[in-house]
Amino acid sequence: MQHTAYQPQISCPVRIERVETMLVDLPTIRPHKLSMAVMNGQTLMLVRIRCSDGTEGIGEGTTIGGLAYGAESPEGMKLAIDTYFAPQLVGADANRVPALMDRLHTAFRDNRFAKCAVETALYDALGHRTGLPVSELLGGRLRERLPVAWTLASGDTGKDIEEAQRMLALRRHNIFKLKIGRRTVREDVAHVAAIKAALGDTASVRVDVNMAWSELDAHHGLAGLVDAGCELVEQPVASIDALARLTGKYPIAVMADESLVGPESAFAIARVAGANVFAIKTEQSGGLQAAQHVAAIGDAARIDLYGGTMLEGAVGSIASAHVFATFRELRWGTELFGPLLLTEEILTQPLDYSDFQLTVPASPGLGIALDEDRVRHFRRDRPRTSVGPAALSHA
Ligand SMILES: [Mg+2]
Repeated sequence: MQHTAYQPQISCPVRIERVETMLVDLPTIRPHKLSMAVMNGQTLMLVRIRCSDGTEGIGEGTTIGGLAYGAESPEGMKLAIDTYFAPQLVGADANRVPALMDRLHTAFRDNRFAKCAVETALYDALGHRTGLPVSELLGGRLRERLPVAWTLASGDTGKDIEEAQRMLALRRHNIFKLKIGRRTVREDVAHVAAIKAALGDTASVRVDVNMAWSELDAHHGLAGLVDAGCELVEQPVASIDALARLTGKYPIAVMADESLVGPESAFAIARVAGANVFAIKTEQSGGLQAAQHVAAIGDAARIDLYGGTMLEGAVGSIASAHVFATFRELRWGTELFGPLLLTEEILTQPLDYSDFQLTVPASPGLGIALDEDRVRHFRRDRPRTSVGPAALSHA
């Protein structure tokens, strides 16, 4: 991908004045069990960029289970932004978001999640400056609302069925993703079959194996999942070649997730027909524009699109919602339920989850505002009145 080199302006109309980061620790409503980690809480790395015209933007970097999922952690992102990114950003023209991101990509390798957080904050500020929602700045939205799947990850079949039935009754979710891969294939398939049988045609049941299966396990697993009525399997195996050997072999959609880490990997998967569906995650793609590039490659290869999550809080989830609203097609919906997994609200106005969908805000920028008192309360570095076990819990 060619970008024009960033040319510093002699007199910038709007300069970046300050880049501030913070870690915010929030509890989850229940343990969230994945093949690589069990999450009991979520840490959001929030970045706030203030500009000389008084506008500011916020962005979020979040991972699954600290360092369990990938090479970046919230703590590492904070360090990367404070130490390396901020000096490159302060004083620069705040209006030129792609040029600023190009500067960061040129100066620093990888750090996709941290760069995504910064890009989000820059677009949020630009949106406030121009009066446009981020989705319009990204080329224009094609939809106002996004279907949202719910993940059933308690590991207990009865509890998962109860949870799904509650979500259906609330009209919050009718797409359910089951996290499997921690038990034997036979046990996992039986778990999925029992849930699908209990929910019937009222719900779509899908599974995420998070790469836990060998290729041979996957052949057994996919055959069993077809019989169970499961319509999609996410990243059953680790390698792109093995994904390609499974795709099209069984009447069940194969979705690439962990293998999809930006436009180059999207091209590599498309070239070997390694998936029916792309789970596009904004952070994992390397940012908002990079996620759109992944979508374009999927479109060109006739691979369906699905809006994925890194279990971000409200800021990261809404950034993704703006990106996914610009996708040409979104046949498999999204899984932007991250904020619903947290017990605490950090926005002045909660996000609108209703009728199985999430509303993409139409006001300028991301269209959300932080509740500053609550954010301060959950900041890891909040002033502490006493030193005791509780105060040391994050040490
Ligand atoms: Mg996944």
